[in-house]
Amino acid sequence: MLDLKRQYQPLYRELMEALGSVLATQQFILGEPVAAFEKAAAERLGVAHAIGCSSGTDALWLALAAAGIGPGQDVVTTPFSFFASVSAILRAGATPLLADIEPATFNLSPVAVEALLNGPQDSSVRAILPVHLYGQCADWTAFARLAKERNLKLIEDAAQAWGAEYHRVETGVPSDRSSSLGWKAGALGDAAAFSFYPTKNLSAAGDAGMVTTNSDVLAERARMLRQHGMRRRYHHDETGWNARMDGFQGAILTVKLRYIDGWNQLRRTVARRYHALFHAAELVEAGPYPIHGIVLPQEVRGTHHVWHQYVIRTTRRDGLRQFLTERKIGSEIYYPVPLHLQAALKSLGYSEGSFPEAERAAREVLALPIFPELREDEQQTVVSAIAEFLS
Ligand SMILES: *Cc1c(COP(=O)(O)O)cnc(C)c1O
Repeated sequence: MLDLKRQYQPLYRELMEALGSVLATQQFILGEPVAAFEKAAAERLGVAHAIGCSSGTDALWLALAAAGIGPGQDVVTTPFSFFASVSAILRAGATPLLADIEPATFNLSPVAVEALLNGPQDSSVRAILPVHLYGQCADWTAFARLAKERNLKLIEDAAQAWGAEYHRVETGVPSDRSSSLGWKAGALGDAAAFSFYPTKNLSAAGDAGMVTTNSDVLAERARMLRQHGMRRRYHHDETGWNARMDGFQGAILTVKLRYIDGWNQLRRTVARRYHALFHAAELVEAGPYPIHGIVLPQEVRGTHHVWHQYVIRTTRRDGLRQFLTERKIGSEIYYPVPLHLQAALKSLGYSEGSFPEAERAAREVLALPIFPELREDEQQTVVSAIAEFLS
């Protein structure tokens, strides 16, 4: 599914040197190695501030808390994501409200969010938290419009989307950007959260995460909250938490930041090859729902997808996965149980049938191996096995 050793081997010397310099200075928590990464990362994304922290989960919590989201407030997000998208809202003391996804992209549906906001619950909604799932930006034009109309905060879960771009935002974001490439994930909302968990496309050697924002106020609050609410040492203005980034992670991420654009480009090449191979095998259906064959993931016009995952849909998902496993071909289900059906989230009051698109996606999605170093012959093996199963 993912062979991280292929990335590590060519970087061995550079990474060892970076780790050695942390040992030489003994700056193990925050300090210069983390500050250097924050500066480089902010420049890369075109944001004013990047705040390194301990994980993507903590980054989500920090972004929400720094944006002033807390008890008595509701945050709208998707039921089809990793658990942390919802648990971070609870950790901030707020209440998650869920809305269904778009079947073609698996991202939060702005139409469903608008319907929710027009319902009886809208009065306590303070923020929307779209997830850029699988490496493709959510429909930001629509979310920016909704946020502007209703005076809501927008927090991005960009955990899977380092380097993803969105080209069409017309409202709700600062307008002083000249680049023709569009806006990077992490620069779209009031704040964003990244994860550098080892399987993410920009990855640390352990847990790490980052908050990004263009707001000086929000950045200052996030920095305070990640260090036990301290602005001055041992003077606690608020009950923050320990959510700091390690120096080793900062040093490793600084090295990998030099390579990430190239790796993302290679992921796009791998995705294009899958497309071509599946079409050549005549297995492709138009979608968004599969019938007998498979539906391929699509890059929405106006976005730049970084293919954190390559996720196909098929009605025979479980059988196909077993068939691939028997042939020692990796695959994964992101995610088999939608969040509204998780035992831990029963108290939110949803049930089977609450979000039909998310539930259907959970039954049909299968993520295939994708990483920058994946070879064409390996992809051919994957596609041939799928063709054999489906025939
Ligand atoms: C990985 C991930 C997170 C959590 O990040 P951690 O670094 O593992 O805490 C949050 N949201 C999404 C969408 C993720 O994929």
